[in-house]
Amino acid sequence: MSTTCGLFARYGAWLRVPAHTRPLSLCEGGTPLIPMPRLAQRLGGGFDLYVKFEGMNPTGSFKDRGLVVAVAEAWGRGASAVICASTGNTAAAAAAYAARAGLRAVVVIPQGKVALGKLAAALAYGARVVQVQGSFDDALRLVRQAVERFPIALVNSINPYRLEGQKTAAFEIVDALGRAPDWLALPVGNAGNITAYWMGFTEYHAQKGTGLPRLLGVQAQGAAPLVLGRPVPRPETVATAIRIGRPARGEEALEAARASRGRIIAVPDEAILEAQHWLAQEGLWVEPASAAGLAGLAAEIHAGRLDPRGKTIVVVCTGHGLKDPDAILHRAPRLPSIPPTLQALEPHLT
Ligand SMILES: *Cc1c(COP(=O)(O)O)cnc(C)c1O
Repeated sequence: MSTTCGLFARYGAWLRVPAHTRPLSLCEGGTPLIPMPRLAQRLGGGFDLYVKFEGMNPTGSFKDRGLVVAVAEAWGRGASAVICASTGNTAAAAAAYAARAGLRAVVVIPQGKVALGKLAAALAYGARVVQVQGSFDDALRLVRQAVERFPIALVNSINPYRLEGQKTAAFEIVDALGRAPDWLALPVGNAGNITAYWMGFTEYHAQKGTGLPRLLGVQAQGAAPLVLGRPVPRPETVATAIRIGRPARGEEALEAARASRGRIIAVPDEAILEAQHWLAQEGLWVEPASAAGLAGLAAEIHAGRLDPRGKTIVVVCTGHGLKDPDAILHRAPRLPSIPPTLQALEPHLT
């Protein structure tokens, strides 16, 4: 399959993948970089703020960037099946790209901890979905054991080709702005994405002199191993996509933050949900984890630890709100129910 759109078509020359890799595409990437002047005002103003909206990828999260490359490599190598552990979005993306390539997909998820839209997506694309009575970290340990014993390709973020795909989001930001932003704020779970962004910015800078951003990685307070400096045995947060206690790319993420003169911080769930609401007020519905970057940026500016004035700041919103409708519906007020008369509707019109 040759590709006319998507990551291989646009950035194929930048992807370090084996020669056997067999490109495929669902026209992933090319996501919008949306100016957010009113949100910048809310945070004090005097700077340029953009959201890189990764929810616009084919399965609704940035995971598509990684999975298109990981599946292309596995497919080209002759694999007939792929497996991953997932908090949900990886499962959906793996299932979609496996379907596109005609491979089987097995996804292992923590029981009861995966948002509805992600579970439905994995099933819709035809993946074998297995629930583990445990955490994401238990699921990851299990699939690592499985690929040692069975002929099935691992597509978790310990798969190096995932990062190759994900780094293209950094390229797109630089291509859109003409240079790297001053700060990039994003959620951190398994820590593959922050690692991949840093790879992308540094590789572009080495070739094109486009500059480097400082990285602000943001974890949820109940799942903040990189802030605490130790694994979290029972991570808990409303932001299920970053509910990870033992990040696979933790060391690389800390090194990326340090090298960029940035940092990794933690914010409480209430701040994440508030940031989700701010984004919705701008017409952008993201899943809770996706709002962590904005929540972290707001906290740092508010505390005087980050001076935004005159800067260009990009917040990465990693996944679409449709992934996790329960996060909204659980907190929604009871909806009015009326007979079909104008008289009954009238009190609700103002
Ligand atoms: C996977 C995911 C993250 C976390 O990315 P890592 O690479 O695991 O740090 C954040 N937000 C969403 C929506 C995700 O799906």
